[in-house]
Amino acid sequence: MSNENTNPLIGAQLRVRSACEHLGLPNEVYEILKNPMRMVEVSIPVKMDNGTTRVFTGFRAQHNTAIGPSKGGVRFHPMVSRDEVAALSIWMTFKCAVTGIPYGGGKGGIIVDPKELSTGELERLCRGYVDAIYPILGEKKDVPAPDVNTNGQIMSWFIDEYIKLSGDQSLGTFTGKPIELGGSQGRTCATGLGIAIVISESLQTMGASINGSRIAIQGFGNVGSYTALCASEMGARIVSIAEWNVVLYNADGIDIAELMKYKSENNGSICGFPGASEITPDQFWSLDVDVLCPCAMENTINSETAPLIKTSLIVEGANGPTTLDAEQLLSSRGVTIVPDILANAGGVTVSYFEWVQNRYGYYWTDSDVRDKEIRAMTDAFHAINKIRLEYKVSMRDAAYMHSIRRVANAMKLRGWY
Ligand code: GLU
Repeated sequence: MSNENTNPLIGAQLRVRSACEHLGLPNEVYEILKNPMRMVEVSIPVKMDNGTTRVFTGFRAQHNTAIGPSKGGVRFHPMVSRDEVAALSIWMTFKCAVTGIPYGGGKGGIIVDPKELSTGELERLCRGYVDAIYPILGEKKDVPAPDVNTNGQIMSWFIDEYIKLSGDQSLGTFTGKPIELGGSQGRTCATGLGIAIVISESLQTMGASINGSRIAIQGFGNVGSYTALCASEMGARIVSIAEWNVVLYNADGIDIAELMKYKSENNGSICGFPGASEITPDQFWSLDVDVLCPCAMENTINSETAPLIKTSLIVEGANGPTTLDAEQLLSSRGVTIVPDILANAGGVTVSYFEWVQNRYGYYWTDSDVRDKEIRAMTDAFHAINKIRLEYKVSMRDAAYMHSIRRVANAMKLRGWY
C-alpha cells in the first residue's frame, strides 16, 4: 500500500469531479463541493481521574447546506484527522441525497481511543465537545449522530449537555439516541438492514438471490453485526466474520445471534467463539463468496488486499473502504462495487425518521420505521441502477451523479452559481 493514495479527501474529491464531468456541470459546482463550507477544530481540556488535565483535539465539518441542515456522525478514534473528517462530511452530503432526505453533509471526530478512558472521563470529553461546538449545533443547523466508537450513551451525554446550555428540549439536535431519550425504533439495526436490502437487490439484478448466498463480512461493530444478522434473516449464510484480532470461518454459516450474544458476554471480543474455526486475514480476502462486505474502516480494500479478492460483488458497509487503485483493479476484472453512499444510507435515513418524530412529538412503531426504510433503500437502489445502465457508468459514479444532480439543483435555485 506504500505508494498508494490513502488520503480519503483526495479520493472523495476525485469521485465528485468525475460525477460532475459525467453530468456536464459547470466547474463552479465542483469548486463549491470539493471542500466543506465550514470546518471547525477545537481543543477540549478534560480533567482526568488522576487529577491531571489532558487536551483532546476535535473537529466538526459542515460540508454543504443547500438542501438542509448538516447531518452526520461523530467518531472517536486515534486516527481521526482533519482530512478524514472533511472527506466523511462530503460523503454525508451525497449519502443524504441518495435517499432524498432533507439534509446536507456533516461529520465530526475526536482524536482519542475511548477504550483508554474511564466512563467519567469519557462523559466529560463528550460534554466538552458539545461545549466547544455549541454555537454551530441545532436541530435546524447541524445534527450529529453515532459513528465509529460512539453510541446511544454518548448521544445521551451530548443531548443532555446541549439542553443544559440551550434550556430547550430540542431532542432532534442529535440522532441515534436510546429509545428512552427520544430515539427511534429501528435505528440501531438501520444501517445493517439497509446494507442487507442493497445486497439482496444487487444479487437480484445479477440474476441471483440473497437466499442461500454466501457472504463474508469485515467488521463486527454495529454495522457489521446487524448486516450479518439481517442478511442471515433473509436466508444468507455468513461464512466469515473478520475482526482486527481474529477471523472466524464456518462453511455452513455462522450463527449470528449466538455470536452477538457471545461478544456482549466476552468484553466485546469474538475471539474463541465455539461456533467457527479461525482463518488468516489473507484467507479471508481470498474467500470464494458471493458477496464481500467491508464494514470496518477506510482503505481496507487496497492494492495489497484487492489482488486476493475472488468475489464478483462488493457491498461497502463502511465509509470509504476501497482505495482508488483497488477500485481500478477490481473494476477491470468486472467486479461490481456498490458504494458506501448508497449501501450504508439506511442509518442516516432512519436518523431522519428519528428527527421527524422528535420535531413532531409523535412516535412510530418498529414496523412503520422498517417499512419506510425498506421503501427508501429499494427506491434509491433502483434509481441509481437506472442511471448506471443509462450512462454506462459504475454504480459509484451513478450514485454520485444521482446525488450531485439533486445538490446542484438546490444550489442553482438558491443562486449559489
Ligand atoms: N455515521 C453514520 C453514517 O456514516 C450515520 C450518520 C447519521 O445518522 O447522521 O452514515
